[in-house]
Amino acid sequence: MTSLSVIVPCFNESDGLYEFHDRLSATLQKQAVAVEIIYVNDGSVDDTSDVIAVLRSADNRVGEIELSRNFGKEAALTAGLDYARGDAVIVIDADLQDPPECIPDMLDAWRSGYDVVAMKRGDRSTDSLFKRVSAGIFYRLLASLSDVHIPENVGDFRLLSRRAVDAVKSMPDRNRYMKGLFAWVGYRTIEIDYKRDPRFVGESKWPFFKLLGLALDGITSFSIAPLRLASLAGAIVAVFALLYGSITLAKTLIFGEAVAGFPTLVVMISFLGGAQLMAIGLLGEYVGRLLVETKHRPLYFIDTVEMPTAFGRVISIRSQKKAIG
Ligand code: UDP
Ligand code: MG
Repeated sequence: MTSLSVIVPCFNESDGLYEFHDRLSATLQKQAVAVEIIYVNDGSVDDTSDVIAVLRSADNRVGEIELSRNFGKEAALTAGLDYARGDAVIVIDADLQDPPECIPDMLDAWRSGYDVVAMKRGDRSTDSLFKRVSAGIFYRLLASLSDVHIPENVGDFRLLSRRAVDAVKSMPDRNRYMKGLFAWVGYRTIEIDYKRDPRFVGESKWPFFKLLGLALDGITSFSIAPLRLASLAGAIVAVFALLYGSITLAKTLIFGEAVAGFPTLVVMISFLGGAQLMAIGLLGEYVGRLLVETKHRPLYFIDTVEMPTAFGRVISIRSQKKAIG
């Protein structure tokens, strides 16, 4: 029988985790595939760890990787991929925004020969207007800037074949924009539309500035186009300055016009000052990431790992949940 690893990054998800595990195991039970479910506890400060312990005692197909602190979702996913042993690996959020019921379709696509089954948010109506608009702008920007095609509106929810997982694992990048890495390795990819549900409980762990950071990581790790754009903008400004200078010179020489224009001077200097600072900031983004890359720090540290001893069929834990209240 083929084997499947399900990786679930969790950061303070205890409230919804029983429900998640129930829906996941209900779906997996019907599949002719041996399973391990790896919960990656990304330094949760609530009782996520206890909930996972209960799940583990109820179901010996459940494993837990506990990171030494909160490293962020990208690192949690990396840890999960490092330990997953399945022929196929599915990455899924713990908040039930990615419905586990999509898994049979993903497995079908994998069995028909696809290495990557990327789940596309066809309908984002459950996300706020602001998130939809900003995500739209970001995905379009990234698509137009990066060298590889990073599909729009495709999140981390996806299935990867063993060789695709190994390819992702072999990439030493410290700035892990996972969606980009997944796309970068290539292989036969299919996109399947799904409807993203609202969060089951709790709130998104991605406040605006964290998302902005992720967006910057995405763009700077997959494109140097912004640097080229800065050079281009510099060149264009220089040409205009030269033209303007020549015109002023001609006017003075031919018509004897006095050179006026203190306001022009101020405007030009502040404009160029701003543009230069922006370009330097842009350069800084790349240099900063270069620094992170050269340090070669590990992506995460493990507190404890409890992997299931073998793959097998998943059992439902609804009865256990009732027992512990
Ligand atoms: N997550 C994580 N570490 C973090 C933040 C989030 O492991 O630092 C997990 C979180 O528990 C959830 C998934 O990543 O399973 C997606 O997070 P969230 O729902 O907050 O993001 P959104 O759906 O709003 O993009
Ligand atoms: Mg979510």
